[in-house]
Amino acid sequence: MKHACLTKTYDNEVLSCAFQPAQKITSFRLKMALCLVSAITLLFFSQVDIKAQYSDDSVFPVKGFCINSPSPSELDRFVKFISDELVPRGVNTLLLLGDYNYQFKTYPQLSDSGALSRDDIKKIVAVCKKNKFRIIPQINLLGHQSWSNKTGNLLKHFPEFDETPHIKMPEKYVWPNDDFLYCKSYCPLHPDVHKVLFAVIDELCDVYEADAFHAGMDEVFYLGDDKCPRCQGIDKAELFAGEVIRVRNHLATRGRELWIWGDRLLEGKITGLGFWEAAYNYTWRAIDMIPKDVVICDWHYERPDQTAVYFAMKGFRVVTCPWRTPATAVIQTEDMARWRKYATPEMRPRYYGMVQTTWMDTGGFMDGFYGNLSARAVGAAHPKNPDFTPWATFKAMFTKIAELEKMK
Ligand SMILES: [Zn+2]
Repeated sequence: MKHACLTKTYDNEVLSCAFQPAQKITSFRLKMALCLVSAITLLFFSQVDIKAQYSDDSVFPVKGFCINSPSPSELDRFVKFISDELVPRGVNTLLLLGDYNYQFKTYPQLSDSGALSRDDIKKIVAVCKKNKFRIIPQINLLGHQSWSNKTGNLLKHFPEFDETPHIKMPEKYVWPNDDFLYCKSYCPLHPDVHKVLFAVIDELCDVYEADAFHAGMDEVFYLGDDKCPRCQGIDKAELFAGEVIRVRNHLATRGRELWIWGDRLLEGKITGLGFWEAAYNYTWRAIDMIPKDVVICDWHYERPDQTAVYFAMKGFRVVTCPWRTPATAVIQTEDMARWRKYATPEMRPRYYGMVQTTWMDTGGFMDGFYGNLSARAVGAAHPKNPDFTPWATFKAMFTKIAELEKMK
């Protein structure tokens, strides 16, 4: 890219810049003010080129599918699934939850065992390029640095990045627990963490030839811990926003945009959304601190909550993300179409579309999709109803999208 630090606009909104990785963070408010000044200045000199352009003429610009990146043994089957099932349904965005499922060269110790090779990934890239799909690879940032009683690869190899090193991983994980341990987080103010993260993010985006990156950043329960020597006493919303800005700005230097889950930007108590789907630890105030070109993935699995309107009114592009309740996904799809239909010209492009999530391994999803109720497929069904599955929801959602496109 042409510039060391870039800005871009969406709907005439000014975005930000600043936070260099080596910069010592002392005052978030001062830095955010500087951000805005830098953004206004740079606006006249730079523009990020987002390669993938969605059609605003279709029912939704984004028609997305989100799934774990496949294991090498499922790769060929997955590539065929893209051609046979995603392409005919008009999917145009593949959000691949991979974390460390790649043979990284910069930090090979972070790679999962049995991770995808460069040649493996190029097979996915080839089919997506051929069909004009946008691939958005993901690594969980901030939260989700452990799962159950297992520490994730980042903190396993860099334990010094742990936000809560005093909280030990249990031998047997149960929820709830006295430590309020859901997942570990890394410390966003550790001076060395971004050197590692940005190296693997860049490598992953390069191999996928991606112009966007999904940073997760959902369900961050450990943040600004009172025992962290760097974070203690700092406003959690500012910590969260600082990390979003830092990642966003790094990506922008390479012409890439940032996507995140939206739950930390929603208030959980007054809304009744709770502390998974929204935040109890005041991070929701970060919604007014982060750049408007961050794309929000607004996930609601049981009810068609209307929070996409809130994100769009705050100036963000937002996609609604169902999971495994088909009827809810259909209502969410209708809602998104209705919002777009009756929105002002300013608001309409922010209602960006739909992304079906799956939250299971690729092979299990394909098993279920084709009616093979393997153990891993059965395990993905809703506990209240075995017919509520990610593949049934996927089919229902894309059937509804096809109907809406016919009516258009
Ligand atoms: Zn910290």
